[in-house]
Amino acid sequence: MNTALTIRTGQKRMSRWSFGAITVDRVIEFERPLATLAYLYPTAPKDGLAPHRHWLEPDLVDPLSGLLKIAFHTFVIRTPRTTILVDTCSGNDRHRPQKTRYHMNSWPYLERLAAIGVQPEAVDYVLCTHLHVDHVGWNTRLVDGRWVPTFPNARYLFSRREWAYWVDHYETEAFTDDPYYQDSILPVIAAGQAVFVDDDYPVDHGVTLEPSPGHTPGHVCIRVTGGGRTAVMSGDLMHHAVQCAEPDWNSCFCVDPDGSRATRRAFLERHAETPTLIMPAHFPTPAVGRIVPSGKAWRFWFEGEPRPPR
Ligand SMILES: [Zn+2]
Repeated sequence: MNTALTIRTGQKRMSRWSFGAITVDRVIEFERPLATLAYLYPTAPKDGLAPHRHWLEPDLVDPLSGLLKIAFHTFVIRTPRTTILVDTCSGNDRHRPQKTRYHMNSWPYLERLAAIGVQPEAVDYVLCTHLHVDHVGWNTRLVDGRWVPTFPNARYLFSRREWAYWVDHYETEAFTDDPYYQDSILPVIAAGQAVFVDDDYPVDHGVTLEPSPGHTPGHVCIRVTGGGRTAVMSGDLMHHAVQCAEPDWNSCFCVDPDGSRATRRAFLERHAETPTLIMPAHFPTPAVGRIVPSGKAWRFWFEGEPRPPR
């Protein structure tokens, strides 16, 4: 069963896209109403959702709770030569009593990968758009009490710039509740599978990294081109579609507030009214779409939805 195919407004949504000889699949770990506006966007006005509720509800904001709907998924890129995973969600079996969302999960993530024909041994590359906890979880799994790389034959590509920033921060007190550095990153390095690369590293024909610093210092996007089409996996440059309409709202996780805003605006400007398919890390089903101008800012035109008004 491919659980990425969900029923929404009575219609099956695509979870595979083709770019010439390259295919991209979306494999969901989970998605649900999760965050309050005040938590995710602490600098947004208290009633900041009010002007947007008419287009956010019910698919992007839960009308009852008012919570923003957030997804966690991996994009699986298959070229004629390589299988590449982009972002590895939260992972299983983490003991995080202080962070209940990550605590002792048992998502059927590997089963979902298998359902699209991807066994762990077949993965050639793992790319993390950045080194936050919800992008590195399936880098490892617990086997006989030890954290080991989930994908034994993969090279894990980490931005050199990103690593240089985090390696100094992971040992600080802020991470004692959330030691994902120890269980999701260090075992990959210890196994000799980590490769530290520049932010514009070409991974394979038609698959390249692009620097997009701000959310984190070494945040990268992944650009996929083939068959005359382009997609960009944009990681956490935006967490929720409301940020297309409110591009100055930074998430509580953005390391560099000014850099985040500047990168987000430049990204929206660059891709507005182009056919480039944008694949953010946390937008709920149907998860992907295009940027279109709307009012004084932009809107996200989800695939299969009516185009938002100008
Ligand atoms: Zn994230």
